[in-house]
Amino acid sequence: MSEIMPAACVIGHPIAHSRSPMIHGYWLNQLGLKGHYNREDVLPENFAEFVRSLRDHGYVGCNVTLPHKEAAFRLLDRASACAQHLQVANTLWFEGDLLCGDNTDVEGFIANLDDRAPHWGTHLKKAVILGAGGAAASIIVGLQERGATDIRLVNRTIEKAEILAHRFGPTVHPTPWSDLHQCLTDADILVNTTSLGMKGQAELDIDLDPLPLKALVTDIVYVPLETGLLRQAKQRGNPIVDGLGMLLFQAVPGFEHWFGQRPTVTKELRGLIEDHIRGVTP
Ligand code: NAP
Repeated sequence: MSEIMPAACVIGHPIAHSRSPMIHGYWLNQLGLKGHYNREDVLPENFAEFVRSLRDHGYVGCNVTLPHKEAAFRLLDRASACAQHLQVANTLWFEGDLLCGDNTDVEGFIANLDDRAPHWGTHLKKAVILGAGGAAASIIVGLQERGATDIRLVNRTIEKAEILAHRFGPTVHPTPWSDLHQCLTDADILVNTTSLGMKGQAELDIDLDPLPLKALVTDIVYVPLETGLLRQAKQRGNPIVDGLGMLLFQAVPGFEHWFGQRPTVTKELRGLIEDHIRGVTP
């Protein structure tokens, strides 16, 4: 009789670009565990049915990416406090017959900064976040958890920043792009969550002059690994952290739920994905 191996997947549309199978495949191999991790391209209209029959498809759980993260949250029987706060889930697993879910982007963002810039949050007060999309919400929550008391949310479409400010409280200040220059003064951290600077997109055009040199600059865009923003910040002497670690660390809790062991984000794993991003490996 053939042995049944636990399997998990990432569900999205499109999904061919996802590097999650490389990450989980590396951990399965490194830990000597039997299991699979697949990509599943599922259209929005088929998503609920797919998740309801996740076990019939042979899965013990899944990651969920664009455009399904809100829909995933609505299907949960039990949501983590973080998923409830954000109304979004990216990691699903079963406890008995209950479908459980978490949002691990917050943990991924914070763990990446802790790993690459230890003590970054020690004197955190003022943060400037560029962008007010799905990822920005997770970054707001993470920075609030680490003590930020003044979060300037700079977005092209100011209404989206206003919606997030309303959701996440008076420490969040919606800010038009025209005020960016002056709000960089006294910032402890600058985070890009827009898609600007990503391969194939326009560059982020920003004057960093008013930003203190001790301010940490981080970009959650990780293709390319060193975005124009990070290059510019490094050249003037700011500490920088790229966005790849966020992708790696957000994957840790899911793997533990599905395969029973907590994996480690190793230098080797990071190097593997870096090579893939640079086009060195297929
Ligand atoms: P999203 O919800 O579509 O939000 C995109 C944001 O970019 C919005 O604030 C949008 O402004 C802004 N934007 C797009 N084009 C712009 C332009 N030409 N000028 C000014 N602003 C522009 O996307 P998301 O899910 O938040 O993801 C954002 C980026 O983060 C993506 O590149 C994604 O790959 C990356 N990401 C990385 C990780 C990681 O693990 N490192 C995790 C999640 C996301 P408007 O509101 O005005 O349209």
